[in-house]
Amino acid sequence: GKVELPSNSIFQDSSDPKIKRTVKIDRSQDLQTSRMLLPVTELEQEIVETVLLNPITVICGETGSGKTTQLPQFLYERAFGSKGSLNPGMVAITQPRRVAAVSMANRVGSELGIGSPKVAYKIRYDGNTSPETAIKFMTDGVLLRELANDFLLTKYSVIIVDEAHERSVNTDILIGVLSRVVGLRNKRWKENSESMTPLRLVIMSATLRVSDFTENKSLFQQQPPVVNVAARQHPVTIHFARRTSPDYLEEAMAKTIKIHKKLPPGGILVFLTGQGEIDSMVKKLKQRFGRKHQSKAQVTLDSSRLSKSNAATGDVEIEDVDFGKSDDPALELDDYDIEDEEEDLGEESGFEEAREDESTSPMHVLPLYSLLPSEKQMQVFEPPPDGSRLVVIATNVAETSLTIPGIRYVVDSGRAKERSYNEQNGMQSFDVSWISKASAAQRAGRAGRTGPGHTYRLYSSPVFENHFEQFAKPEILRMPIEGVVLQMKSMNLDVVDNFPFPTPPNAVGLSKAEKMLTNLGALTSTSLTQAQSRFKITELGRSMSLFPVTPRFAKMLVTGFQHGCLPYIVAIVSALSVGDPFLHEEALKAGLNDDDSEDARQAVRKAYFKTQQKFASLGKNTSDLFKVLSAVGAYEYAGGGEAFCRANFLRPKAMEEIRKLRAQISYLIQSTYPSIDAKFIPKLDPPSQTQVKVIRQLITAGFIEQVAIRKDLVEESENSGKKFQSCRGIAYKAVGIEQDVYIHPSSTIFTEEPPGYITYTEIVSTSQAYMKGITSIDVSWLHKLGRSMCRFSKPIDVPANAKLQTSNTKKDVIVEPFFGPGRGIKLPAV
Ligand code: ADP
Ligand code: MG
Repeated sequence: GKVELPSNSIFQDSSDPKIKRTVKIDRSQDLQTSRMLLPVTELEQEIVETVLLNPITVICGETGSGKTTQLPQFLYERAFGSKGSLNPGMVAITQPRRVAAVSMANRVGSELGIGSPKVAYKIRYDGNTSPETAIKFMTDGVLLRELANDFLLTKYSVIIVDEAHERSVNTDILIGVLSRVVGLRNKRWKENSESMTPLRLVIMSATLRVSDFTENKSLFQQQPPVVNVAARQHPVTIHFARRTSPDYLEEAMAKTIKIHKKLPPGGILVFLTGQGEIDSMVKKLKQRFGRKHQSKAQVTLDSSRLSKSNAATGDVEIEDVDFGKSDDPALELDDYDIEDEEEDLGEESGFEEAREDESTSPMHVLPLYSLLPSEKQMQVFEPPPDGSRLVVIATNVAETSLTIPGIRYVVDSGRAKERSYNEQNGMQSFDVSWISKASAAQRAGRAGRTGPGHTYRLYSSPVFENHFEQFAKPEILRMPIEGVVLQMKSMNLDVVDNFPFPTPPNAVGLSKAEKMLTNLGALTSTSLTQAQSRFKITELGRSMSLFPVTPRFAKMLVTGFQHGCLPYIVAIVSALSVGDPFLHEEALKAGLNDDDSEDARQAVRKAYFKTQQKFASLGKNTSDLFKVLSAVGAYEYAGGGEAFCRANFLRPKAMEEIRKLRAQISYLIQSTYPSIDAKFIPKLDPPSQTQVKVIRQLITAGFIEQVAIRKDLVEESENSGKKFQSCRGIAYKAVGIEQDVYIHPSSTIFTEEPPGYITYTEIVSTSQAYMKGITSIDVSWLHKLGRSMCRFSKPIDVPANAKLQTSNTKKDVIVEPFFGPGRGIKLPAV
């Protein structure tokens, strides 16, 4: 591997690449041997030369080839991060996940034999860096925040962006900014090498689709060199399921047990989607295969160490437990195609099952997901207790960021929890969905690290062929663009329209997002020149950016602390994110057999309208959103359950999801603002009258650019004072929408005398535009909650003796259209 040295390398003349190792490291023989087995060490010379000679390098190599653990060491040994060297700045390595940042820092520290703070990590709210630090692992979010304060990243000499293939929003934005920072920093260094040192960027990726980076002209004018690290992978046999069961949790459980009982030793790695699922499966497996056996193992172990007197204290039962199940080399693994066996587990009686479980060897079951404390995460790297089988139940953390040793079997649910976004209503949620083919291949590969392995996919090959995308969509295209823009602004990246995104989002969307965020008060615009204005983040915007929900929800949450309204706002935001839980259409049409009598149908309809009325009473004539709040409250008081849902025309799954999301958001608030009591309590007391009003204001704050005003209040009708009424109802003018809009008949506000001013959560267009999710508002709230949308006329002089305490001027307020063709709507003076 000799590299072609680029003739135009900016480093060639001035920094004379020193390929020699100048920092000496003493590694143990064992460690040295295992490092030599990693594919990247074979290419050490080529990698180091390429990085030294080029400002930007791309390294592409299979998971487990040693990129993350070895690259920082290669550079450290060439005096990167050493005071007084050519590259005194720290070596930075960014990770999309906190788990990886912490565990990789520990690993590299121990491989180098120096540990923290020389090798340290920094993640949000935690870290062990010091001025001594030479190698710094961090999440990409942390580096982005540092960029906001030091755009030239003067503390660093090289930035390694790891796991670039994951295409997280942060990684994408980071690569975009760094493409500029590297050029700028090296220009400064060329101009004045006394006060500035050079900066290099290394992009590391696991799968092969690096063309988004390398062939993107707006990102890198000159294509950066790519070093490909050859894979060293043992063959993995892939077994598809015959059928694809929707209950992947049960399937995963059954498959894991089967492998454990019937196949030779070797770790099992199970891919599920989230913490809840993982914890519950870990618990079940431990109950059946873990604790009992392990405590016996413990006893045997202890008893050999303990003195006789200790052993004689009573409950210690000394027995020879034979866990050793030797790996018979005569057994061809392919004989174990367990797909062809009968699924018989379900038929066993509990008694027999228990007996059989006792005779199998124990499992050493470990969970692995991002929110797990780091000591717990590190356990997966330790060998399991003698005679037991390692079983790791993980999220896609184990897909490419962490390589768990000794895995021979992979059980792949084929699913992952992904952020997704509904363009219609702007709602964002985390949904379980199919992974990509590339991800499935990565997961399968985990079984072939130590020897030949087996991967059991819990889905059929037609499902894989027809429903799996080739590659996952970059996260930036799966997020509401206003969320991305808010995130960028919070990092002081103010110019978003010319930003070098690896995959750019839609340009019109970007500028719409800036307007919307301004209306929400998250940004303020400062005019630079007449044509140009720059939108900068406000304090409110900064707080909003801490929540991974769509900005309008973030605003409701951030402002929701008042008058004990937070639990209600959390419930409303959760319900809006999950979607309408009521069975409207179904109640009126389906659910009944064709031969049901007209009376029976009538009875169902009557019951439906009764429940609707019951839930609507809290927000009668004030807000549709109280209906769902009442339903959530009633559901929790009844202790949840399908029966309650059936009786009240609710979708049980939606109600469960709302509860989960409430818990999740509460947890998030708690961890973001430890001083605020946001502990999740499922039961909700009905809000007080004051709270009802405050909640309506908070809703208005979130939906401020979705205001509509009864048409007769802004336009003269033919016979003055009359409302614009047609067969569709009473007409409204919505800010920014040209055509008239109407209240959807399902709304509690749909009455003879609807309020003058409202906000809505969505518009459904059939032959007409109908507003849904309506809340009646007070006109005087508008100029307070949506100041940037209002234009004020010149102050009107008010007689000095007028009894006005706060202000003695009266202004007209004009609500400006959000964007689009509408005109401003003039409101009464305030
Ligand atoms: P890559 O970044 O190319 O995916 P890594 O550098 O993460 O590869 O992993 C290289 C090897 O180091 C793997 O075999 C992995 O199992 C091992 N390894 C990583 N972290 C640890 C650890 N904490 N303890 C033991 N082995 C580890
Ligand atoms: Mg890695």
